[in-house]
Amino acid sequence: MDALIHEDVIQKRVIEGDGMPESVWQAWSGLGQVPRLGLDDWVSPRGRIVVVAPHPDDEVLACGALIGMHVARGGDCLVVGVTDGEASHPGSSEWHVDRLGPARRIERMRGLSELGLHGTEVLRFALPDGGVEAHAEQLALGLRRLLRPTDLVIATWRLDGHPDHEATGRAAARACAAVGCKLAESPVWMWHWSSPEDARVPWHRLRGLSLTPLAVDAKRRAIQHHLTQLAPRDTGDGPVLGAGILGRVGRDTEYFFV
Ligand SMILES: [Zn+2]
Repeated sequence: MDALIHEDVIQKRVIEGDGMPESVWQAWSGLGQVPRLGLDDWVSPRGRIVVVAPHPDDEVLACGALIGMHVARGGDCLVVGVTDGEASHPGSSEWHVDRLGPARRIERMRGLSELGLHGTEVLRFALPDGGVEAHAEQLALGLRRLLRPTDLVIATWRLDGHPDHEATGRAAARACAAVGCKLAESPVWMWHWSSPEDARVPWHRLRGLSLTPLAVDAKRRAIQHHLTQLAPRDTGDGPVLGAGILGRVGRDTEYFFV
């Protein structure tokens, strides 16, 4: 019985429509009760952050301010690009996959510059956008080779609702367990499909990082470089990044499951 309920509860994580408005989240007292950890608790000043981003823009949405704050104090950061995000405009005549992947890679570099990572190398796996699960072993093995025990790894949450985000989270978790490094999972789309007190969400595992106003401003500027994701699509679909997710970019806290 319990198992059945649990199955039902975890399976419905559908990303559709405008999602939960940011005003609802901000009005919820539960968010203010999430324990905050300081920057040094997340990663030591000399430590390295490895961000495993399923698509270009996930590094900004998940932890753009954390990256900016760590890099500003001289910390090291490696961004791992799982896919090039070439499938965000299915059926588009304007943005065919051959053109969209390279365009999004440029948007990512511009965004990372705003976070203090000028001309940084992104380690690309170039897995097919929408098909990470089929290559999850390759991803986990590749991550295992590059991770160090002292790294803080930020990946998307393994139950985030987007198949690529979930496959990335699971692969990162396997690699981190093998290497023995710390993993924090970012709920990028969870805020879209869930609601305050949602039983599908392990709220007790959520921890926050309070952000400096400078870091939030840099994160806001960084996401503005992802032009392909901000404009309405020529297929009649709205922008990939709607008002809800853009509202969350301005938060004074980033949240991770630990
Ligand atoms: Zn994504």
